[in-house]
Amino acid sequence: MANVKRYWKNYIDGAWVDGGAAWIGVLDPATGEQIAEHALADAADVDRAVQAARRVHVSGALTAMRPIERGRMVQAMGRYLLEHKGEIARVLTLEQGKPLWESHIEIEGAALYFEYYGNQASTVEGRSIPLGAGYMDWTEYEPFGVSAQIVPWNYPVEMTARSLSAGLATGNACVIKSPELTPLTNGYLAMAAEAAGFPAGAVNIICGLGHEAGAALAGHSGVNQIVFTGSVPTGVAISTAAAQNVVPCVLELGGKSAAIVHEDADLDAFENDIRWGIYFNAGQVCSAMSRVIVHESRRDELVERAASVAKSLSVGPGIESPDFGANMGAMVSDGQRDRAMEMIARAQDEGATLVTGGRRPNRPGAFLEPTVLSDVTPNMEIANQEVFGPVLSVLSFQEEAQAIEIANGTEYGLVAGVFTADLDRATRAARHLRAGQVFVNEWYAGGVETPFGGYGKSGYGREKGREALWNYVQTKNIAIRLKG
Ligand code: NAD
Repeated sequence: MANVKRYWKNYIDGAWVDGGAAWIGVLDPATGEQIAEHALADAADVDRAVQAARRVHVSGALTAMRPIERGRMVQAMGRYLLEHKGEIARVLTLEQGKPLWESHIEIEGAALYFEYYGNQASTVEGRSIPLGAGYMDWTEYEPFGVSAQIVPWNYPVEMTARSLSAGLATGNACVIKSPELTPLTNGYLAMAAEAAGFPAGAVNIICGLGHEAGAALAGHSGVNQIVFTGSVPTGVAISTAAAQNVVPCVLELGGKSAAIVHEDADLDAFENDIRWGIYFNAGQVCSAMSRVIVHESRRDELVERAASVAKSLSVGPGIESPDFGANMGAMVSDGQRDRAMEMIARAQDEGATLVTGGRRPNRPGAFLEPTVLSDVTPNMEIANQEVFGPVLSVLSFQEEAQAIEIANGTEYGLVAGVFTADLDRATRAARHLRAGQVFVNEWYAGGVETPFGGYGKSGYGREKGREALWNYVQTKNIAIRLKG
Protein backbone atom coordinates (compact mmCIF):
# COMPACT_ATOMS: atom_id res chain seq x y z
CA MET A 1 0.00 0.00 0.00
CA ALA A 2 1.45 3.33 -1.07
CA ASN A 3 0.29 5.26 1.99
CA VAL A 4 -0.34 8.52 0.17
CA LYS A 5 -3.17 10.95 0.98
CA ARG A 6 -6.17 9.43 -0.81
CA TYR A 7 -7.80 12.55 -2.26
CA TRP A 8 -6.10 15.69 -3.58
CA LYS A 9 -7.86 18.94 -4.49
CA ASN A 10 -7.30 21.79 -6.90
CA TYR A 11 -6.08 25.15 -5.61
CA ILE A 12 -8.12 28.10 -6.83
CA ASP A 13 -8.16 31.61 -5.38
CA GLY A 14 -6.40 30.50 -2.22
CA ALA A 15 -8.79 27.61 -1.47
CA TRP A 16 -8.54 23.84 -1.91
CA VAL A 17 -11.56 22.83 -3.98
CA ASP A 18 -13.21 19.87 -5.69
CA GLY A 19 -13.44 19.74 -9.48
CA GLY A 20 -16.46 20.23 -11.69
CA ALA A 21 -15.37 17.21 -13.76
CA ALA A 22 -15.27 14.91 -10.71
CA TRP A 23 -11.89 13.22 -10.17
CA ILE A 24 -9.20 11.15 -11.82
CA GLY A 25 -7.37 8.11 -10.44
CA VAL A 26 -3.59 8.47 -10.16
CA LEU A 27 -1.67 5.23 -10.73
CA ASP A 28 1.74 4.09 -9.54
CA PRO A 29 3.41 3.09 -12.82
CA ALA A 30 5.66 0.65 -10.97
CA THR A 31 2.67 -1.46 -9.90
CA GLY A 32 -0.28 -0.29 -11.96
CA GLU A 33 -2.20 0.27 -8.71
CA GLN A 34 -4.18 3.41 -7.96
CA ILE A 35 -2.49 5.43 -5.23
CA ALA A 36 -4.84 8.44 -4.99
CA GLU A 37 -7.60 10.43 -6.61
CA HIS A 38 -7.25 14.00 -7.80
CA ALA A 39 -10.04 16.53 -8.34
CA LEU A 40 -10.59 17.17 -12.03
CA ALA A 41 -11.33 20.71 -13.19
CA ASP A 42 -13.89 21.65 -15.82
CA ALA A 43 -14.13 24.86 -17.83
CA ALA A 44 -15.99 26.63 -15.00
CA ASP A 45 -13.12 25.88 -12.59
CA VAL A 46 -10.66 27.20 -15.16
CA ASP A 47 -12.73 30.36 -15.46
CA ARG A 48 -12.73 30.85 -11.67
CA ALA A 49 -8.96 30.43 -11.57
CA VAL A 50 -8.39 32.91 -14.40
CA GLN A 51 -10.78 35.43 -12.80
CA ALA A 52 -8.93 35.11 -9.48
CA ALA A 53 -5.58 35.66 -11.16
CA ARG A 54 -6.97 38.62 -13.09
CA ARG A 55 -8.29 40.18 -9.88
CA VAL A 56 -4.83 39.89 -8.28
CA HIS A 57 -3.21 41.41 -11.33
CA VAL A 58 -5.64 44.34 -11.52
CA SER A 59 -5.31 44.97 -7.78
CA GLY A 60 -1.59 45.66 -8.26
CA ALA A 61 -0.77 43.36 -5.33
CA LEU A 62 2.18 41.88 -7.22
CA THR A 63 3.18 44.81 -9.41
CA ALA A 64 3.18 47.52 -6.75
CA MET A 65 5.52 45.52 -4.61
CA ARG A 66 9.21 46.33 -4.73
CA PRO A 67 10.68 43.63 -7.01
CA ILE A 68 13.35 42.67 -4.51
CA GLU A 69 10.59 41.80 -2.03
CA ARG A 70 8.65 39.83 -4.61
CA GLY A 71 11.88 38.04 -5.43
CA ARG A 72 12.34 37.14 -1.77
CA MET A 73 8.90 35.52 -1.78
CA VAL A 74 9.77 33.57 -4.92
CA GLN A 75 12.93 32.35 -3.23
CA ALA A 76 10.95 31.31 -0.16
CA MET A 77 8.95 28.95 -2.38
CA GLY A 78 12.15 27.13 -3.30
CA ARG A 79 13.11 26.82 0.34
CA TYR A 80 9.68 25.36 1.10
CA LEU A 81 10.27 22.65 -1.49
CA LEU A 82 13.66 21.81 0.00
CA GLU A 83 12.22 21.72 3.53
CA HIS A 84 9.62 19.18 2.35
CA LYS A 85 11.90 17.37 -0.07
CA GLY A 86 11.59 13.89 1.46
CA GLU A 87 7.80 13.95 1.46
CA ILE A 88 7.47 15.42 -2.05
CA ALA A 89 10.08 13.03 -3.48
CA ARG A 90 8.16 10.03 -2.26
CA VAL A 91 4.92 11.19 -3.87
CA LEU A 92 6.77 12.11 -7.07
CA THR A 93 8.30 8.66 -7.37
CA LEU A 94 4.97 6.98 -6.69
CA GLU A 95 3.09 8.99 -9.30
CA GLN A 96 5.81 9.26 -11.96
CA GLY A 97 7.97 6.15 -11.59
CA LYS A 98 11.47 7.63 -11.35
CA PRO A 99 13.92 6.36 -8.70
CA LEU A 100 13.61 8.13 -5.37
CA TRP A 101 17.09 9.64 -5.72
CA GLU A 102 16.09 11.10 -9.10
CA SER A 103 13.03 12.66 -7.42
CA HIS A 104 15.36 14.33 -4.93
CA ILE A 105 17.37 15.72 -7.85
CA GLU A 106 14.18 17.00 -9.51
CA ILE A 107 13.05 18.82 -6.38
CA GLU A 108 16.48 20.36 -5.88
CA GLY A 109 16.34 21.48 -9.52
CA ALA A 110 12.90 22.99 -8.97
CA ALA A 111 14.15 24.87 -5.89
CA LEU A 112 17.03 26.24 -7.96
CA TYR A 113 14.57 27.91 -10.36
CA PHE A 114 12.94 29.75 -7.46
CA GLU A 115 16.35 30.77 -6.16
CA TYR A 116 17.55 31.95 -9.56
CA TYR A 117 14.45 33.84 -10.70
CA GLY A 118 13.84 35.19 -7.20
CA ASN A 119 17.26 36.75 -7.56
CA GLN A 120 16.47 38.12 -11.01
CA ALA A 121 13.26 39.92 -9.99
CA SER A 122 15.00 43.21 -9.30
CA THR A 123 17.11 43.09 -12.47
CA VAL A 124 14.30 43.60 -14.98
CA GLU A 125 15.26 47.18 -15.71
CA GLY A 126 14.21 49.45 -18.54
CA ARG A 127 16.42 52.03 -20.22
CA SER A 128 16.33 55.73 -20.80
CA ILE A 129 16.23 56.89 -24.41
CA PRO A 130 17.66 60.32 -25.33
CA LEU A 131 15.18 62.45 -27.33
CA GLY A 132 16.86 65.83 -26.98
CA ALA A 133 16.39 68.62 -24.46
CA GLY A 134 12.59 68.80 -24.65
CA TYR A 135 11.87 65.24 -23.61
CA MET A 136 12.43 62.61 -21.03
CA ASP A 137 11.86 59.07 -22.23
CA TRP A 138 12.22 55.64 -20.70
CA THR A 139 11.05 52.07 -21.05
CA GLU A 140 9.58 49.80 -18.43
CA TYR A 141 8.91 46.08 -18.48
CA GLU A 142 5.45 45.22 -17.23
CA PRO A 143 4.10 41.73 -16.62
CA PHE A 144 1.51 40.52 -19.11
CA GLY A 145 -0.97 39.95 -16.28
CA VAL A 146 -2.37 36.42 -16.23
CA SER A 147 0.16 33.77 -17.23
CA ALA A 148 -1.31 30.35 -18.13
CA GLN A 149 1.12 27.48 -17.82
CA ILE A 150 0.41 23.97 -19.11
CA VAL A 151 2.79 21.32 -17.86
CA PRO A 152 3.78 17.74 -18.88
CA TRP A 153 4.16 14.65 -16.70
CA ASN A 154 7.87 13.87 -17.10
CA TYR A 155 9.20 16.46 -14.63
CA PRO A 156 6.00 17.77 -13.05
CA VAL A 157 7.66 19.63 -10.17
CA GLU A 158 10.59 21.04 -12.11
CA MET A 159 8.62 22.07 -15.21
CA THR A 160 6.02 23.89 -13.13
CA ALA A 161 8.78 25.51 -11.07
CA ARG A 162 10.53 26.68 -14.24
CA SER A 163 7.61 28.73 -15.53
CA LEU A 164 6.01 29.67 -12.21
CA SER A 165 9.22 31.11 -10.75
CA ALA A 166 9.86 33.35 -13.78
CA GLY A 167 6.18 34.28 -14.04
CA LEU A 168 5.93 35.37 -10.40
CA ALA A 169 9.33 37.06 -10.33
CA THR A 170 8.18 39.33 -13.14
CA GLY A 171 4.88 40.05 -11.35
CA ASN A 172 2.39 37.89 -13.24
CA ALA A 173 -0.47 36.05 -11.55
CA CYS A 174 -0.38 32.41 -12.67
CA VAL A 175 -2.80 29.63 -13.53
CA ILE A 176 -1.20 26.22 -13.91
CA LYS A 177 -2.81 23.22 -15.57
CA SER A 178 -1.01 20.28 -14.02
CA PRO A 179 -0.53 16.99 -15.92
CA GLU A 180 -3.35 14.50 -15.44
CA LEU A 181 -0.97 11.52 -15.11
CA THR A 182 1.15 13.13 -12.38
CA PRO A 183 -0.88 15.90 -10.70
CA LEU A 184 -0.16 15.20 -7.04
CA THR A 185 3.19 16.89 -6.51
CA ASN A 186 2.00 20.13 -8.13
CA GLY A 187 -0.07 20.65 -4.97
CA TYR A 188 3.14 21.30 -3.05
CA LEU A 189 3.85 24.31 -5.25
CA ALA A 190 0.53 25.79 -4.17
CA MET A 191 1.46 25.12 -0.55
CA ALA A 192 4.83 26.78 -1.19
CA ALA A 193 3.12 29.89 -2.61
CA GLU A 194 0.81 30.04 0.38
CA ALA A 195 3.70 29.61 2.82
CA ALA A 196 5.69 32.33 1.03
CA GLY A 197 2.82 34.78 1.54
CA PHE A 198 1.49 35.21 -2.00
CA PRO A 199 -2.07 36.56 -1.92
CA ALA A 200 -5.01 34.30 -2.78
CA GLY A 201 -5.38 34.09 -6.55
CA ALA A 202 -1.72 34.83 -7.38
CA VAL A 203 -1.05 31.13 -7.90
CA ASN A 204 -3.77 28.72 -9.00
CA ILE A 205 -3.04 25.07 -9.71
CA ILE A 206 -5.65 22.88 -11.30
CA CYS A 207 -5.62 19.38 -12.68
CA GLY A 208 -7.86 18.61 -15.62
CA LEU A 209 -7.90 16.74 -18.88
CA GLY A 210 -5.95 18.33 -21.72
CA HIS A 211 -8.81 18.60 -24.18
CA GLU A 212 -11.14 19.97 -21.47
CA ALA A 213 -9.42 22.08 -18.79
CA GLY A 214 -6.25 22.51 -20.87
CA ALA A 215 -8.12 23.70 -23.93
CA ALA A 216 -10.39 25.92 -21.79
CA LEU A 217 -7.33 27.59 -20.26
CA ALA A 218 -5.46 28.02 -23.55
CA GLY A 219 -8.52 29.59 -25.15
CA HIS A 220 -9.63 31.74 -22.20
CA SER A 221 -9.97 35.40 -23.13
CA GLY A 222 -8.72 36.47 -19.68
CA VAL A 223 -5.31 34.89 -20.22
CA ASN A 224 -2.56 37.26 -21.38
CA GLN A 225 0.35 34.90 -22.03
CA ILE A 226 0.77 31.13 -22.33
CA VAL A 227 3.70 28.86 -21.59
CA PHE A 228 3.32 25.33 -22.85
CA THR A 229 5.66 22.39 -22.37
CA GLY A 230 4.62 19.18 -24.06
CA SER A 231 4.12 17.49 -27.40
CA VAL A 232 4.04 19.04 -30.88
CA PRO A 233 0.34 18.35 -31.67
CA THR A 234 -0.75 19.91 -28.37
CA GLY A 235 1.61 22.82 -29.00
CA VAL A 236 -0.09 23.44 -32.32
CA ALA A 237 -3.53 23.40 -30.65
CA ILE A 238 -2.39 25.78 -27.93
CA SER A 239 -0.65 28.24 -30.21
CA THR A 240 -3.75 28.28 -32.41
CA ALA A 241 -5.87 29.17 -29.40
CA ALA A 242 -3.34 31.82 -28.40
CA ALA A 243 -3.41 33.32 -31.88
CA GLN A 244 -7.18 33.61 -31.71
CA ASN A 245 -6.89 35.70 -28.55
CA VAL A 246 -3.79 37.46 -29.87
CA VAL A 247 -1.64 36.53 -26.89
CA PRO A 248 2.00 35.45 -27.02
CA CYS A 249 3.03 31.95 -26.15
CA VAL A 250 6.18 30.02 -25.46
CA LEU A 251 6.27 26.49 -26.84
CA GLU A 252 8.73 23.99 -25.34
CA LEU A 253 8.08 20.87 -27.38
CA GLY A 254 9.80 17.60 -28.13
CA GLY A 255 13.10 16.62 -29.68
CA LYS A 256 15.13 13.95 -31.45
CA SER A 257 18.44 15.29 -30.32
CA ALA A 258 21.71 13.94 -31.68
CA ALA A 259 25.24 13.61 -30.38
CA ILE A 260 27.92 13.59 -33.07
CA VAL A 261 30.86 11.47 -31.92
CA HIS A 262 34.07 12.00 -33.88
CA GLU A 263 36.94 9.55 -34.22
CA ASP A 264 38.98 11.52 -31.66
CA ALA A 265 36.25 11.54 -28.97
CA ASP A 266 36.95 10.28 -25.47
CA LEU A 267 34.68 7.23 -25.36
CA ASP A 268 35.46 6.49 -21.70
CA ALA A 269 33.91 9.84 -20.82
CA PHE A 270 31.13 9.37 -23.36
CA GLU A 271 29.82 6.33 -21.46
CA ASN A 272 28.73 8.77 -18.80
CA ASP A 273 26.90 10.83 -21.41
CA ILE A 274 25.04 7.71 -22.54
CA ARG A 275 24.12 6.93 -18.93
CA TRP A 276 22.58 10.34 -18.34
CA GLY A 277 21.69 11.34 -21.87
CA ILE A 278 19.25 8.55 -22.59
CA TYR A 279 18.59 6.59 -19.41
CA PHE A 280 17.95 9.36 -16.87
CA ASN A 281 14.21 9.47 -16.08
CA ALA A 282 13.92 6.35 -18.28
CA GLY A 283 14.62 8.52 -21.32
CA GLN A 284 11.50 10.63 -20.77
CA VAL A 285 13.40 13.86 -21.22
CA CYS A 286 12.62 16.29 -24.03
CA SER A 287 16.34 16.96 -24.54
CA ALA A 288 17.37 13.30 -24.29
CA MET A 289 20.31 12.10 -26.35
CA SER A 290 18.12 9.80 -28.39
CA ARG A 291 20.47 9.60 -31.40
CA VAL A 292 24.21 9.05 -31.51
CA ILE A 293 25.87 9.68 -34.86
CA VAL A 294 29.31 8.12 -34.62
CA HIS A 295 32.26 8.11 -37.01
CA GLU A 296 32.29 4.70 -38.67
CA SER A 297 35.81 3.97 -37.41
CA ARG A 298 34.55 3.99 -33.79
CA ARG A 299 31.07 2.58 -34.38
CA ASP A 300 31.59 -0.99 -33.19
CA GLU A 301 33.42 0.15 -30.08
CA LEU A 302 30.73 2.69 -29.27
CA VAL A 303 27.89 0.21 -29.74
CA GLU A 304 29.66 -2.21 -27.42
CA ARG A 305 30.15 0.47 -24.78
CA ALA A 306 26.52 1.66 -25.09
CA ALA A 307 25.31 -1.91 -24.60
CA SER A 308 27.45 -2.32 -21.51
CA VAL A 309 26.09 0.95 -20.03
CA ALA A 310 22.52 -0.24 -20.74
CA LYS A 311 23.16 -3.64 -19.19
CA SER A 312 24.76 -2.11 -16.10
CA LEU A 313 21.44 -0.51 -15.10
CA SER A 314 18.95 -2.45 -13.02
CA VAL A 315 15.26 -1.75 -13.61
CA GLY A 316 12.77 -1.74 -10.75
CA PRO A 317 10.31 0.25 -8.64
CA GLY A 318 11.71 3.73 -8.02
CA ILE A 319 10.54 3.68 -4.42
CA GLU A 320 13.09 0.90 -3.75
CA SER A 321 15.96 3.09 -5.01
CA PRO A 322 16.64 5.76 -2.38
CA ASP A 323 20.35 6.05 -3.14
CA PHE A 324 22.06 7.43 -6.22
CA GLY A 325 22.97 4.44 -8.33
CA ALA A 326 22.90 2.39 -11.52
CA ASN A 327 19.16 1.93 -11.70
CA MET A 328 16.17 3.07 -13.68
CA GLY A 329 12.49 3.23 -12.71
CA ALA A 330 9.26 2.57 -14.56
CA MET A 331 8.11 4.66 -17.46
CA VAL A 332 5.13 6.86 -16.66
CA SER A 333 2.44 4.51 -17.99
CA ASP A 334 1.86 1.20 -19.74
CA GLY A 335 0.70 3.21 -22.76
CA GLN A 336 4.02 5.06 -23.06
CA ARG A 337 5.97 1.82 -22.59
CA ASP A 338 3.90 -0.03 -25.21
CA ARG A 339 4.34 2.83 -27.67
CA ALA A 340 8.12 2.66 -27.21
CA MET A 341 8.12 -1.12 -27.72
CA GLU A 342 6.09 -0.76 -30.90
CA MET A 343 8.61 1.78 -32.21
CA ILE A 344 11.47 -0.63 -31.41
CA ALA A 345 9.69 -3.41 -33.31
CA ARG A 346 9.10 -1.17 -36.33
CA ALA A 347 12.76 -0.10 -36.28
CA GLN A 348 13.79 -3.77 -36.47
CA ASP A 349 11.36 -4.29 -39.36
CA GLU A 350 13.07 -1.40 -41.12
CA GLY A 351 16.50 -2.99 -40.66
CA ALA A 352 17.83 -1.73 -37.31
CA THR A 353 19.62 -4.20 -35.03
CA LEU A 354 18.45 -4.61 -31.46
CA VAL A 355 21.73 -4.76 -29.54
CA THR A 356 20.29 -4.97 -26.05
CA GLY A 357 17.04 -4.34 -24.18
CA GLY A 358 13.75 -3.79 -25.93
CA ARG A 359 11.79 -6.09 -23.63
CA ARG A 360 9.53 -5.59 -20.67
CA PRO A 361 10.93 -7.30 -17.59
CA ASN A 362 8.88 -10.15 -16.22
CA ARG A 363 7.03 -8.12 -13.58
CA PRO A 364 3.99 -5.85 -13.42
CA GLY A 365 4.49 -2.15 -14.02
CA ALA A 366 5.42 0.09 -16.95
CA PHE A 367 9.03 -1.07 -17.18
CA LEU A 368 11.19 -1.24 -20.27
CA GLU A 369 14.77 -2.47 -20.38
CA PRO A 370 17.40 0.11 -21.36
CA THR A 371 17.65 -0.34 -25.09
CA VAL A 372 20.30 0.16 -27.78
CA LEU A 373 19.54 -0.02 -31.50
CA SER A 374 22.37 0.01 -34.04
CA ASP A 375 22.42 0.08 -37.84
CA VAL A 376 19.85 2.87 -37.70
CA THR A 377 19.70 4.96 -40.87
CA PRO A 378 18.43 8.53 -41.20
CA ASN A 379 15.25 7.63 -43.06
CA MET A 380 13.89 5.22 -40.42
CA GLU A 381 10.99 6.23 -38.18
CA ILE A 382 13.14 5.63 -35.07
CA ALA A 383 15.67 8.19 -36.38
CA ASN A 384 13.00 10.87 -36.81
CA GLN A 385 10.23 10.41 -34.25
CA GLU A 386 10.58 10.97 -30.54
CA VAL A 387 10.33 7.72 -28.53
CA PHE A 388 10.33 9.45 -25.15
CA GLY A 389 11.75 6.33 -23.53
CA PRO A 390 15.09 4.60 -22.76
CA VAL A 391 15.94 3.86 -26.37
CA LEU A 392 19.24 4.89 -27.97
CA SER A 393 19.57 4.84 -31.76
CA VAL A 394 23.10 4.59 -33.15
CA LEU A 395 23.76 5.89 -36.67
CA SER A 396 27.14 6.33 -38.37
CA PHE A 397 28.88 8.80 -40.67
CA GLN A 398 32.02 9.11 -42.78
CA GLU A 399 32.42 12.86 -43.34
CA GLU A 400 31.88 15.72 -40.92
CA ALA A 401 29.39 17.46 -43.20
CA GLN A 402 27.35 14.27 -43.43
CA ALA A 403 27.16 14.06 -39.63
CA ILE A 404 25.77 17.60 -39.42
CA GLU A 405 23.28 16.87 -42.18
CA ILE A 406 22.00 13.78 -40.36
CA ALA A 407 21.83 15.65 -37.05
CA ASN A 408 19.85 18.46 -38.70
CA GLY A 409 17.70 16.06 -40.66
CA THR A 410 14.65 15.84 -38.39
CA GLU A 411 11.81 18.31 -37.92
CA TYR A 412 13.04 18.97 -34.39
CA GLY A 413 15.88 21.13 -33.11
CA LEU A 414 15.93 21.20 -29.33
CA VAL A 415 19.54 20.40 -28.40
CA ALA A 416 22.54 18.76 -30.05
CA GLY A 417 26.00 17.63 -29.02
CA VAL A 418 29.44 17.22 -30.48
CA PHE A 419 32.17 15.07 -28.98
CA THR A 420 35.71 15.70 -30.18
CA ALA A 421 39.14 16.80 -28.99
CA ASP A 422 39.32 19.32 -31.83
CA LEU A 423 38.06 22.76 -30.80
CA ASP A 424 37.84 24.00 -34.39
CA ARG A 425 35.65 21.08 -35.32
CA ALA A 426 33.50 21.61 -32.23
CA THR A 427 32.91 25.29 -32.94
CA ARG A 428 32.22 24.56 -36.61
CA ALA A 429 29.60 22.04 -35.56
CA ALA A 430 28.12 24.45 -33.02
CA ARG A 431 27.67 26.99 -35.81
CA HIS A 432 25.96 24.56 -38.16
CA LEU A 433 23.78 22.54 -35.82
CA ARG A 434 20.16 23.68 -35.92
CA ALA A 435 19.33 23.50 -32.23
CA GLY A 436 18.64 25.90 -29.39
CA GLN A 437 21.52 24.54 -27.34
CA VAL A 438 24.74 22.76 -28.32
CA PHE A 439 26.70 20.65 -25.86
CA VAL A 440 30.40 20.09 -26.47
CA ASN A 441 31.93 17.06 -24.73
CA GLU A 442 29.20 16.85 -22.07
CA TRP A 443 25.52 16.14 -22.64
CA TYR A 444 23.31 18.39 -20.50
CA ALA A 445 26.14 20.89 -19.86
CA GLY A 446 24.44 24.07 -18.62
CA GLY A 447 21.87 24.83 -15.93
CA VAL A 448 19.02 27.10 -14.88
CA GLU A 449 21.21 30.02 -15.99
CA THR A 450 21.47 28.92 -19.63
CA PRO A 451 18.65 29.64 -22.12
CA PHE A 452 16.79 26.60 -23.37
CA GLY A 453 14.34 26.13 -26.21
CA GLY A 454 13.87 24.85 -29.67
CA TYR A 455 14.48 25.42 -33.32
CA GLY A 456 11.97 23.99 -35.80
CA LYS A 457 9.19 21.88 -34.34
CA SER A 458 10.86 21.85 -30.95
CA GLY A 459 9.11 25.15 -30.36
CA TYR A 460 9.86 28.82 -29.89
CA GLY A 461 10.63 31.23 -27.10
CA ARG A 462 13.11 30.39 -24.38
CA GLU A 463 12.82 29.14 -20.84
CA LYS A 464 15.69 29.26 -18.31
CA GLY A 465 18.34 31.92 -18.13
CA ARG A 466 17.72 35.66 -18.37
CA GLU A 467 16.20 35.17 -21.83
CA ALA A 468 13.13 33.57 -20.26
CA LEU A 469 12.29 36.71 -18.30
CA TRP A 470 11.49 38.60 -21.50
CA ASN A 471 8.73 36.12 -22.33
CA TYR A 472 6.85 37.18 -19.22
CA VAL A 473 6.99 40.95 -19.70
CA GLN A 474 5.97 43.50 -22.27
CA THR A 475 7.73 46.76 -23.01
CA LYS A 476 6.12 50.09 -22.26
CA ASN A 477 7.68 53.34 -23.41
CA ILE A 478 6.95 56.54 -21.52
CA ALA A 479 7.78 59.90 -23.13
CA ILE A 480 7.44 63.20 -21.28
CA ARG A 481 7.38 66.59 -22.99
CA LEU A 482 9.27 68.93 -20.71
CA LYS A 483 8.53 72.62 -20.45
CA GLY A 484 12.00 73.94 -19.98
P1 NAD B 1 1.07 16.43 -24.06
O1 NAD B 1 1.19 17.45 -25.11
O2 NAD B 1 0.19 15.28 -24.31
O3 NAD B 1 0.55 17.08 -22.71
C1 NAD B 1 1.18 18.18 -22.09
C2 NAD B 1 0.15 18.96 -21.33
O4 NAD B 1 -0.78 19.51 -22.25
C3 NAD B 1 -0.67 18.13 -20.34
O5 NAD B 1 -0.88 18.91 -19.18
C4 NAD B 1 -1.98 17.92 -21.09
O6 NAD B 1 -3.08 17.75 -20.24
C5 NAD B 1 -2.12 19.22 -21.85
N1 NAD B 1 -2.97 19.14 -23.04
C6 NAD B 1 -3.21 18.06 -23.86
N2 NAD B 1 -4.04 18.40 -24.85
C7 NAD B 1 -4.35 19.71 -24.69
C8 NAD B 1 -5.14 20.66 -25.42
N3 NAD B 1 -5.81 20.30 -26.52
N4 NAD B 1 -5.18 21.93 -24.98
C9 NAD B 1 -4.49 22.32 -23.89
N5 NAD B 1 -3.75 21.47 -23.15
C10 NAD B 1 -3.66 20.18 -23.55
O7 NAD B 1 2.56 15.98 -23.73
P2 NAD B 1 3.01 14.89 -22.67
O8 NAD B 1 2.77 13.56 -23.28
O9 NAD B 1 2.42 15.19 -21.34
O10 NAD B 1 4.56 15.20 -22.56
C11 NAD B 1 5.48 14.63 -23.41
C12 NAD B 1 5.93 15.62 -24.46
O11 NAD B 1 6.39 16.83 -23.86
C13 NAD B 1 7.12 15.12 -25.24
O12 NAD B 1 6.95 15.39 -26.60
C14 NAD B 1 8.28 15.92 -24.69
O13 NAD B 1 9.36 16.06 -25.54
C15 NAD B 1 7.65 17.22 -24.37
N6 NAD B 1 8.42 17.95 -23.34
C16 NAD B 1 9.12 19.07 -23.72
C17 NAD B 1 9.89 19.77 -22.79
C18 NAD B 1 10.65 21.00 -23.18
O14 NAD B 1 11.03 21.76 -22.32
N7 NAD B 1 10.90 21.24 -24.47
C19 NAD B 1 9.93 19.33 -21.47
C20 NAD B 1 9.21 18.19 -21.12
C21 NAD B 1 8.45 17.51 -22.07
